[in-house]
Order: sequence, then C-alpha cells, then structure tokens
Amino acid sequence: MNLHTRQSRRRFINGALATTGMLGLVTPFDRSDARGSSPIDGGALATFRAQLKGRLVLPTDAGYEAARRVYFWNPDTEKRPALVVRCAHVDDVRHAIAFARTHALEVAVRGGGHSPMGWGTSNGLVIDMAGMNLVTIDPATRTARVDAGALGGEVMRQAGRHGLAPVVGQCAGVGAAGVTLGGGLGWLSGLHGAACDNLLAARVVTADGTLLSVDAERNPDLLWGLRGAGANFGVITSFDCRLHSLGPVTAGDIHYPVREARSVLRLFREFMAEAPDAFQATLNLTPGERGVFVQLCHAGESAEAERLLRSLRAIAAPAKDMVRRQEFADLAGRQPTGTADADFRCVATAYRHELSDEVMNVVLDRLAEAPASTVIGISHYMHGELCRVASDSTAFPLRQSGGVHIRFGADWNDPGLAQRLMPWASEASRLLRASSGERIYANYQSHAGKGSAEAVYGSNHARLVALKNTYDPSNVFRRNSNVEPTSA
Ligand SMILES: Cc1cc2nc3c(=O)[nH]c(=O)nc-3n(C[C@H](O)[C@H](O)[C@H](O)COP(=O)(O)OP(=O)(O)OC[C@H]3O[C@@H](n4cnc5c(N)ncnc54)[C@H](O)[C@@H]3O)c2cc1C
Repeated sequence: MNLHTRQSRRRFINGALATTGMLGLVTPFDRSDARGSSPIDGGALATFRAQLKGRLVLPTDAGYEAARRVYFWNPDTEKRPALVVRCAHVDDVRHAIAFARTHALEVAVRGGGHSPMGWGTSNGLVIDMAGMNLVTIDPATRTARVDAGALGGEVMRQAGRHGLAPVVGQCAGVGAAGVTLGGGLGWLSGLHGAACDNLLAARVVTADGTLLSVDAERNPDLLWGLRGAGANFGVITSFDCRLHSLGPVTAGDIHYPVREARSVLRLFREFMAEAPDAFQATLNLTPGERGVFVQLCHAGESAEAERLLRSLRAIAAPAKDMVRRQEFADLAGRQPTGTADADFRCVATAYRHELSDEVMNVVLDRLAEAPASTVIGISHYMHGELCRVASDSTAFPLRQSGGVHIRFGADWNDPGLAQRLMPWASEASRLLRASSGERIYANYQSHAGKGSAEAVYGSNHARLVALKNTYDPSNVFRRNSNVEPTSA
C-alpha cells in the first residue's frame, strides 16, 4: 500500500471511530488525562525545544501520526499526545519530566511501545526513549549495558557475537528495558530466571529530576523495586544485565491442522510438565489456515532436543516442521504471531496457576468461535530457575511452577471490525480470569481496575507502596501496573 493510500485510510479510520464515539478523540491540546493542566504558551514550548538534544514532535508536525502510535493501537489505546519528546540524552529526560510537571501533563514513558494497555502513549507528554538505543557488551564480565530504547532483539544480536545470550522477551520488538522492568519471561527463563533476576544496575531519573545510580550497593531498595515494578519509579535511561554463555539452540515452529487442537493441547500440558529447564514453548491456536502451532526453543544438546521433540512430532502428522539447529540470536529475526503491518491490534490476557481441564475447555470453546485473524497463545510455562527464586526476593512475585499465560489477540485493518474482535478477546480473558484471588503478570496486564496492583504484586505490594512514597510520591509515573502512593 502506498503512503498516500495509507494516510487516506488513516484519516478515514480516525473519522469513522470518532463518529461512532469509540475514541473520545481530543483536540491536540485538550489534555483530558492531565490533572489541573495549565495552558502551554509558545514561549515555554520554544524554550523547551531549545533545551532538547533530541526532537520535540507536536500535533502539527509532520511525523506526529507515527510518533503517537504504539503496537496495540485500537479504540481503547489511541491517544493524541500534546507533545512527544524523542530523547537523545539523559538531560532530555530531565527536561521532559520538569516540563510535564510544570504544565500538569500526564507522563507516558515509551521504550518498545508494546504494552497491551498502550501505556507508551498518552494525551499528555510522551517520553520516547527509542533514540537512545546503544547496546555495549563486556565479554569479560559477561554483562551488557543497554540504553533504555534498545529492543530485546538487539541485545540478543549484540550478545550473540560473543557467544553470550540475555534473558529478554521472546519477541525481538519488545523493549529490553520494558520487558525487564515488568519481570521478563523469555526462552531462557527456565535456565536463568526472569529478565529482572538478571538486572544488575540501572540509571534512573526520578520525578524530581535526580539521576540515581542503582545497584546492589547504591539504592538497593530501588533495585528490588525495579525488578518487576520498575516503571513506577522513574525513567530508566540505561541498565546493566547479566549474560549467559550459550551455544546453538534447537528452535522453530511445528504446525498442526486445527482439527488436532484438542490432542495437541493435551500433549502440550503433559509435555511441559516434564520439560527440562532448557526447554520452553508457546502453543498458538488459530482458526485459520495457520492452524495450531508450537513455537519452541531448547537451549541444550542437539541429541536431547531430538529426543524431546519425538513426542511433539508423533502426536499428529505435522503440517509443517520448521525446527532447526540455529544460533540463539537468530531467533531475534522471528516474527510475532500477528500480521506485521496491521492498522489495529488488541490483546486480552489471563494468568492461571495451572493448565487445568477447565482452562483447556474454555480455550477450545473460544477457538471454535474465534473470528479470522485472531490467535490464542499459551506461553511461558512457569518452571525451572524462574520458580526457584523466592517470590519476595524481587518485586516480580509470580513464581509458581505450572503457571501459564494465556492471551487472546487480534489484528485487523477495517476499523469496523473493532466492535467484533475486541469483545471476543476481552470476553475470552474474562472467562479465564479467576473469580477470586486473580493474579496478573505486569507485562501482560490488559485490564486495570480496583485491586489490580495487588493482583500484580501480591504480597510485595505493601513494600512497593513504601518505595513509591519515597521515589514518586505524586505518582508522576502512573501509566504502568501502577502502585499508588499513599501520599498522592
Ligand atoms: C508481540 C509481543 C511479544 C511479547 N513477548 C513477551 C515475552 O516473551 N515475555 C514477556 O515477559 N513479555 C512479553 N511481552 C510483553 C512485554 O514485555 C511488555 O508489554 C513490556 O512492558 C513491553 O515493553 P516495551 O518497552 O516494548 O513497551 P512500552 O509500551 O514502551 O512500555 C511498557 C511499560 O514499561 C514502561 N517503560 C518502558 N521503558 C521504560 C523506561 N526506560 N523507564 C521506565 N519505564 C519504562 C512504560 O512506561 C510502560 O508502562 C510481549 C508483548 C508483545 C506485544
């Protein structure tokens, strides 16, 4: 599609959604999310622009449409920021926070922009870290220094050049900082824990503009909080993480016809219950011709992988088997399960402590009614090192063996489809969410309301409130799995 057609379509989309009242569109400087905002005069904007080493994007600027977008773009997440600050230096972050506070603009911090809630955008001021994306590997200490805008895939690629691997998310396009700050479940979590367990140090600009160094000696209380609740305390401008030596892995997808969904799901449960720490897999179920497919990675010996895969290959005749021996960093080239250039996307999620019969039945029922261009994913089977770490040793508490993360995703281009696809996803997740004692994984949080912070942080919540009172008492950083300070 050429640019003109795309822009025309975008204008149509905005118009269509606005007239159906789905978006609650605001004019460029109507900061309806801001609390008691004060007008921005041209002089203040000019001074702010002059302070920045990076770029300020305003609603009237070319590039604004792209600058305001995030990955999950839909009527619930669409915003019109008053300003997007494309940071090029730590000082830009400081100036942006100060400007937002002076003008009472809601702050959104964006890394890779993959939050299901669209937390990387806002009607206020967006601090976009994408331009600060350097990754430096120190092979001697097996660590990486990662600027906040770097994507997980880039950390994989850079580390891979030294025979090393990070724990980051399974999708290369996810922000390395974003995934780490919310916990971080990846292919290597069974062997090496969550991404946040491998977080060693960070530089953080807090709400009052202070640049803090955080590690085991300096501000260790904050290091604990960054490991799972990190978006709450400031803007992380860079961080250091542990890397792991890793040779080739066995990885790829095995596809089955959709009629085999029930038997593959059953086998997947049995298989994952016995899987070694080095193995991780995601089961995707789609109603379309892509059928059912398992994406997997075994970070160990080839012979063990072949032995493990025997049962996955025998359960039904695979329609396609693309598993092969490859470098771990090659997985950074793997595409997410949806359509790469879809105009709209949504996801609704649920976490369950086990893949019970009841869960499987709900999943299969929803698959039977799934509209085209939807996918149901069952991922991050909780096991291994991830679950050996005590749930209070980091802010990220979800450490129960056998737990699974279930997502109902959709993408589409015709704006009218939102009314069909979004309720399908949210209803499916509602059916799976526990009616009491619900737990939520911060990185997959797709709904928020009373009690959701407790559902995310469990028994760590009270300690996080105390930290929030210290580091962000006015709740400047609230577009996240938000811990509300008692003082706000
Ligand atoms: C296709 C896809 C695949 C995914 N795969 C995985 C996976 O394998 N494992 C997993 O655990 N999760 C996964 N996720 C979830 C993902 O980890 C979270 O959505 C994560 O928060 C995204 O980070 P981001 O920087 O890309 O997103 P953003 O929307 O930019 O940010 C997400 C949150 O982090 C905050 N944040 C980001 N950067 C900073 C910073 N520098 N300082 C302070 N706060 C910051 C934002 O304010 C926001 O609250 C996936 C998501 C998608 C869409």
